[in-house]
Amino acid sequence: MSIVLAKRLKAIKPSPTLSLNAKAKALAAKGADVVSFAAGEPDFDTPKHIKDAAIAALNAGFTKYVATGGIPELKNAIVKKLKTENKLEYTPEQILVSDGAKHSLYNLFQALLSPGDEVVIFAPYWVSYPDMVQLADGKPVFVETSEAEGYAPDPRELRKALSPKTRAVIFNSPSNPTGAVLPRAALEKVAEVLKGHDCLIVTDDIYERLLYVPGPFENLANVEPSLTPRTVVVNGFSKAFSMTGWRLGYAAGPKELIGAMQMIQDQSTSNASSFSQKGAVAALEGPTTDLDAMLTEFKARRDLMVSGLNAIAGVRCRLPEGAFYVFPNIGELIGRSYKGKPIKGSVHMSEILLEDFLLAAVPGEPFGAEGHLRFSFATSRAVIEKGLKRLAEFVASLS
Ligand code: PMP
Ligand code: GLU
Repeated sequence: MSIVLAKRLKAIKPSPTLSLNAKAKALAAKGADVVSFAAGEPDFDTPKHIKDAAIAALNAGFTKYVATGGIPELKNAIVKKLKTENKLEYTPEQILVSDGAKHSLYNLFQALLSPGDEVVIFAPYWVSYPDMVQLADGKPVFVETSEAEGYAPDPRELRKALSPKTRAVIFNSPSNPTGAVLPRAALEKVAEVLKGHDCLIVTDDIYERLLYVPGPFENLANVEPSLTPRTVVVNGFSKAFSMTGWRLGYAAGPKELIGAMQMIQDQSTSNASSFSQKGAVAALEGPTTDLDAMLTEFKARRDLMVSGLNAIAGVRCRLPEGAFYVFPNIGELIGRSYKGKPIKGSVHMSEILLEDFLLAAVPGEPFGAEGHLRFSFATSRAVIEKGLKRLAEFVASLS
C-alpha cells in the first residue's frame, strides 16, 4: 500500500532549527569536534529549587492526569506573575498551560483560523510561525523589517499588510532570530495602526527576561492598554528558567479563545506534564539568583560574540538587545568562491560550515532573511572563541 499523506503537509517543512541541532548532535555523537551555535536553548542546568520541586512532586505520587488547562496552583502563579511583573490582569480561566510555548501557539492558530484567514508576521521571524499558521489552513502575510531600523516594523508597511482577512498579528520581542527589542516608541507607532484594525494581537514574550537594555520589558498591551482585551500573551519556561526539556508554556488571553484552545488540547494532548507543572510553580515563586547569574553570563557572551564577529572582514553584526542570538549579516560573502565554487546563499554557507569546519549555524533563509546566519550564544565563552576561529578560517579560505 502506498501511504498518502494529508494535503496540508505540502505547505510545511521540518523545523530548520531543530533539524540542524539534531545534525550537529549526531556528528558530535560520532566523535566529531563540532562547535554548535545552533541550539536555541540555554546551556545552564535547570535551577536546583525547580528540580527539587518536581522531584518532590514525583515522590509524592503527583503522577496522574491533572486538569487539561493546568493545575490551579500554576495558573494562579501565572496570574500573579502577569500582574506583578507585566502589569496585566487576567483570571485563571484566561490561562492555558501547554507543552511549551510552541504548543500554545499551535493551539492558538488551530482555534483561531479558518481556511484563507491571514496572519501578519514580521520578517525576520521565528521559523515555526509560518508553518504553524499553514498547518491551521491560514495564510502568513509577511512584513519586512530592516536591520538599519533595528528591525522595528514600519507602520505604513503594517497598514498595507492588514486586510479584512487579517485575524492576527504576531510580535516577538526580544526576537528570535535577531535579538532585537522593540522600544516603546516603536510599539506606540504600531499600536496606533492596530487600534484601527480589529484583529488579535499575539505577543510571544518568551525571551522577555533575557534583556540587556534597561527594563522593564514592555509589550504592546503595556504601551496601549486598550489593546489588552484582544491580546494573547504567549510565554513559557524554556528560555528564562533553562527548562527546554520540561515542555511547559502558556497563553493568556480572551476567555472564549483560551476556552477554544483548551478544547483542542482536551482532544489532542490533554494536560502538560503534572510534575513539570509543580517545578514551574517553584520557578515562578522561587529566588531569581540563578536567573540573574545566567543573564550576566549571557551578556558577557553576547559582547564576546559580537566583537569577534565584527573583527572578521565581510561579517557585520548588530548588537542584540535581548534573547541569546546574534544575526550577523554575511551578505558580502555570498557569491564569493569556496574551493572554486560560488557560495549560493546562507543555506549553502551553513552546509559548508558544518561539513568542512564543524561549525553549526542556522541559515537566515528559513527565518525570512537571506544574507544572514543565526548564531546562538547560549554556549560557553571557550566554545564561542573556538567557533569564531573556525568562522574566520572559513572566511580566510574564500576567494
Ligand atoms: N517562541 C519563540 C520565538 C521561540 O524561539 C521558541 C523556541 N523555543 C518558542 C516560542 C517555543 O519554545 P517552547 O516550546 O520551548 O516553550
Ligand atoms: N526555538 C528554538 C530555536 O529557534 C528551539 C528550537 C525550535 O523549537 O525551533 O532554536
